[in-house]
Amino acid sequence: MNSGDIMKYDVVIIGAGASGMMCSSFLKSRMKDLNILLLEKNDKVGKKLSITGNGKCNLGNNDLKVDYFHSNNDLNSFKNIIENNEYLDILKNIGILTTEENGRIYPYSMQAISVCKSFERYLISNDVKIKYNYTVNKVVYTDNEYIINDEIKSRFVVLATGGITYPKTGSTGDGYKILKSLNHRITNIYPSLTYLMTNYKYQKELQGVRVNAKASLIVDNKLEKEETGQVQFTKNALSGICIFNLSRNVKRYLDDNKSVIISIDFIPECDNIDDYLKQFKNYKSQEALSCVINNKLANVICKDTNTYDKQFNKIDSKSFYNIMDKLKNMNFKIIGVGDYLVSQVTNGGASLDNFNNSLESKTNHNLYVIGELLDIDGDCGGYNLSWAFNSAIVAAKDIISKLV
Ligand SMILES: Cc1cc2nc3c(=O)[nH]c(=O)nc-3n(C[C@H](O)[C@H](O)[C@H](O)COP(=O)(O)OP(=O)(O)OC[C@H]3O[C@@H](n4cnc5c(N)ncnc54)[C@H](O)[C@@H]3O)c2cc1C
Repeated sequence: MNSGDIMKYDVVIIGAGASGMMCSSFLKSRMKDLNILLLEKNDKVGKKLSITGNGKCNLGNNDLKVDYFHSNNDLNSFKNIIENNEYLDILKNIGILTTEENGRIYPYSMQAISVCKSFERYLISNDVKIKYNYTVNKVVYTDNEYIINDEIKSRFVVLATGGITYPKTGSTGDGYKILKSLNHRITNIYPSLTYLMTNYKYQKELQGVRVNAKASLIVDNKLEKEETGQVQFTKNALSGICIFNLSRNVKRYLDDNKSVIISIDFIPECDNIDDYLKQFKNYKSQEALSCVINNKLANVICKDTNTYDKQFNKIDSKSFYNIMDKLKNMNFKIIGVGDYLVSQVTNGGASLDNFNNSLESKTNHNLYVIGELLDIDGDCGGYNLSWAFNSAIVAAKDIISKLV
């Protein structure tokens, strides 16, 4: 593009991530002659998509319920978008066949990179113009059309620039600035689906431990939320899907000086393990505990209760009670959370108040916002990508309805 040239399009989509690629693909699949431009600041599409699900891309879930999604707004008015499975048929048409594992939906290839490649192939073969290494800084509305960076004009604009987590993938929060300049409200934002840091004195010794457990988030002595699943221990933090799903508001609580505890039940299926353990009375206490829990964890619990190396049937009743209490309710004081660099999604974003049920701005005609840029985030389990795809489809359908 030479400076001074104004390029004109029917629809400009900003951001070639999960939602932007889905929106462009859907529009082109329904309207072959539509003049679309997809703008991407990276030199390739789907940089974040390509690292999702540990490289396997958990792109959806069989159990799509509004309860697994969060926002500052009431999500019930967006339930029809959230709980829709149509995205799976559309992915199939794009060349992404899916399969399911315990309710979670993955590409049949089990490769996130193949999902990006399928989108890329589809966009190219359907003549979607993609402009790489192009960062949008400015969107203004004038004379019934949008002007992007003073050089691209379009009747419709779809903002699909993502949130602010994992910025090395391109999502650096640009959409918030653009929307603010268009008088949209951005809610407070926090990192979500992230690890929780603890100062537990024996934490380093637990590094590498993975257990299936029930974890409870306790804020100012009140139970906030419980999750069952895998908990992983690093040298200074608790991690794993279970913890990620509890992490959503923890930064906010800590900023408000609230006390945050993660309490872990290491044997959630069992309420009276003491009878079982008593048969190992001649063992050292950590050896008896190792009959039911991870070895490193058994050592730490015994050190913490001053029973390490003591014969199991010789420990006093108070210490025995302490051990049993740690097995069922071991408390970890939380002192910090993984920041935006490492968190999987952004809690907060473009306020849903500003959008109708087709995700069109209520104040800026023909401006749509999709994906993680909006104030909606899902739990682990494919919910964030299903939202990216579903929100893209609903916006694309609305644009088409105005064009036919
Ligand atoms: C490590 C990791 C693992 C994850 N795993 C899963 C998972 O398994 N399942 C799941 O459901 N979710 C997962 N997520 C979350 C999911 O990836 C995101 O919610 C989803 O990608 C959001 O899609 P999006 O299109 O809104 O934004 P993104 O995918 O972030 O795409 C935004 C695009 O816009 C571009 N862009 C930004 N600003 C500009 C600008 N100014 N000009 C031009 N282009 C711009 C960016 O470069 C980027 O390509 C994971 C996230 C991470 C970080």
